Amino acid sequence: MAMRLSSRKRVLVSGGAGFIGSHLCERLLKDGHDVLCVDNFFSSTRDNIQGLLAHGQFELLRHDITFPLYVEVDEIYNLACPASPVHYQSDPVQTTKTNVHGAINLLGLAKRVKAKILQASTSEIYGDPRVHPQREEYWGRVNPVGARSCYDEGKRCAETLFMDYRRQHALGIKIARIFNTYGPRMHPNDGRVVSNFIVQALRGAPITIFGSGRQTRSFCYVSDLIEALIRLMGSDDSFTGPVNLGNPHECTVIELAELVLSLTGSRSPIAFAPLPSDDPTRRRPDIALAKAQLDWQPEVPLREGLLRTIEYFDRLISGPARPALQLAATATVPHVRAR
Ligand code: NAD
Ligand code: UDP
Ligand code: UDP
Repeated sequence: MAMRLSSRKRVLVSGGAGFIGSHLCERLLKDGHDVLCVDNFFSSTRDNIQGLLAHGQFELLRHDITFPLYVEVDEIYNLACPASPVHYQSDPVQTTKTNVHGAINLLGLAKRVKAKILQASTSEIYGDPRVHPQREEYWGRVNPVGARSCYDEGKRCAETLFMDYRRQHALGIKIARIFNTYGPRMHPNDGRVVSNFIVQALRGAPITIFGSGRQTRSFCYVSDLIEALIRLMGSDDSFTGPVNLGNPHECTVIELAELVLSLTGSRSPIAFAPLPSDDPTRRRPDIALAKAQLDWQPEVPLREGLLRTIEYFDRLISGPARPALQLAATATVPHVRAR
């Protein structure tokens, strides 16, 4: 896309090879910007960005953000951090370092080059919430010493750092509190519930439900989230957030399992497994602030987003040589690029 040089920006996406990051890089390139993707491949591979490597405005830098980084950019999206509990708990000290040292380095960079910087925060800020649905004013209920704390407290400290760089150095900041997001390019072994259930259903393996399965989550399709992140970065300088970004449609883990089974036509049995510690009981965003400030709300219903994601994993698992799965209502599913 041709773009006037004045509106073409140099955008750094840390964690750009990850699930959300790769979609964001793609969108920024489509919008005509220069993209610097910074990633240490802790929870991803080059596969997600393979298709972007030949793009003249795309640059990949293998780098761990816990170390300083000196580059010249106009905007920074800080997405670097493993998001799946399995990954972020596999090296919890590194998770805290990424959230805290990583944030300090990117904030220091933003300060030096006067760049606007957006933090990918999380609904985990609210912990196991007593207020439902969650509004931004709620301070949360987080265990500071548990298995999830490296992620939850790391992300909370990062929010503090962002607000203090704003107050102390007048930095242009944005904080997005992202709720469970899913879609193509999640790693098949990522360990999160949507990818697990779909891969298990497609392989005919047992669907692993942790605990009773009555805990709830609200799942947002990735294209809706990307639109929200772009709008947030482009919002008025006076609006910093934190702002909830997610789909308010809430469902139980059992309902999700049943939907995946029905959409794939799989006969996988259900297998109950112990609930991981500090697993939040209910989670649903109140998105009134995002609606008012960003004129944004999600558009892709769960069923449709799942169909697109199932089609992606089906191609990934089966390979192109095997016939594609007959999905319910595939007519509504657009083409998803096979890797
Ligand atoms: P992901 O694990 O697919 O992507 C994270 C990326 O960050 C990976 O490519 C990983 O290699 C990279 N990374 C990790 N540590 C790094 C480091 N020290 N230096 C450089 N790169 C590093 O996860 P995702 O789902 O794409 O999540 C992206 C961001 O959004 C994360 O910050 C996550 O906390 C946040 N978020 C995601 C969700 C969700 O449901 N997907 C929900 C809330 C918040
Ligand atoms: N930093 C960086 N890139 C830059 C500028 C700073 O990685 O372009 C890092 C540097 O390691 C520093 C941190 O960001 O320790 C915080 O920078 P700041 O200027 O806020 O504080 P300093 O520690 O330099 O006083
Ligand atoms: N979960 C599950 N089976 C799985 C993976 C996850 O029942 O194979 C549950 C998990 O215990 C949690 C919910 O699904 O209650 C969402 O888990 P996920 O790891 O995707 O994200 P979280 O919201 O917990 O960070």
